[in-house]
Amino acid sequence: MPAKATKTARTGKSRPADGLSIVVPVFNEAKGLAGLHQRIAEAARFLQSKRNLAVEVVYVDDGSSDATTATANALPAMPLDVQVVTLSRNFGKEAALLAGLDHARLGAVLFMDGDGQHPPSLIETLVSRWLDGGYDVVYTAKAHRENEPWLRRTGVHWFYWLLNWRARLKIPEDAGDFRLLSPRAANALRQMPERNRFFKGLSSWIGFRQVRVDYEPAEREHGVTTWNVWSLVGLSVEALTSFSVAPLRVASLLGVIMAASALLFGFWIVIETVLFGEDVPGYPSLVVGLMVLGGVQLMMIGVLGEYIGKLLSESKGRPVYFVAEHNVKTAIEPAKAKPSPARAAE
Ligand code: UDP
Ligand code: MG
Repeated sequence: MPAKATKTARTGKSRPADGLSIVVPVFNEAKGLAGLHQRIAEAARFLQSKRNLAVEVVYVDDGSSDATTATANALPAMPLDVQVVTLSRNFGKEAALLAGLDHARLGAVLFMDGDGQHPPSLIETLVSRWLDGGYDVVYTAKAHRENEPWLRRTGVHWFYWLLNWRARLKIPEDAGDFRLLSPRAANALRQMPERNRFFKGLSSWIGFRQVRVDYEPAEREHGVTTWNVWSLVGLSVEALTSFSVAPLRVASLLGVIMAASALLFGFWIVIETVLFGEDVPGYPSLVVGLMVLGGVQLMMIGVLGEYIGKLLSESKGRPVYFVAEHNVKTAIEPAKAKPSPARAAE
């Protein structure tokens, strides 16, 4: 049963510390996969010869409708082990990342996109920050965002401002999902129980020694991004409600401001009537006041609803994903071919 497999994989203690699992979520990436795999294999070969580091790659097919699984299964397991985890449907990138983390068998875990935007040539740099620099979380950030539309850049900026507003833990702006976690950081991430996940936030939240690496993101090799405005808004709401109570604070603050101005306005009316003898003018101010109040209240009920919805989905305790198929291709030593704990439990 996949839910159990997840647990087994999460508690698996047999992960050697001297290895690196590269987790690549792929959703309809069949076209570029062979090319990407070749570049990952090159990086792996280098790490194996220079650092004597065992390397595997875990492709998580997030319910693709094209030939992604077949393509991934046909990839040569040279010089690194290849795991292909096919999810039962499209669960979204965050779920695919978690599936990869659960199935990773070696100590350290590196996440990268499957569309060629995260250059495999940078893997060596990230590994050296971990092994030579002693860092636990090596995250990358886009050196600039000039190739993105102005509206998106501004949106991202405001989102992070709100996310980090008065927060003890600041989540770095424009950090990407391209990151390496040392074995202990990866284990910490595995212990995070929440089902609604925002990986960037979580891997920042766990602490340890973190370091930033700037890079130039490449253009997408083929196809188009799966993120549109609405999915970005969705992820932002997800992240905000997971990591911050700022929206609730804004609600309280707004309430205080409105109540205070209503009080002042009330005083003013009394003074007007008593001192100047003006009778209270009619309904326009009343209607405007009512509408503003009603609108603000509805908005804030919506904000509360987001948090309650989150509580509900967390309390249902559903598994984050289901595995439909899992293939492990072992590179060299036949001894390693025995099924992983996750596999055995399926
Ligand atoms: N992805 C996924 N599931 C999804 C959407 C995307 O696994 O539902 C993968 C996708 O194949 C790619 C990565 O997530 O490897 C990043 O997706 P994309 O390039 O669309 O996002 P962007 O780079 O624009 O942020
Ligand atoms: Mg991309």
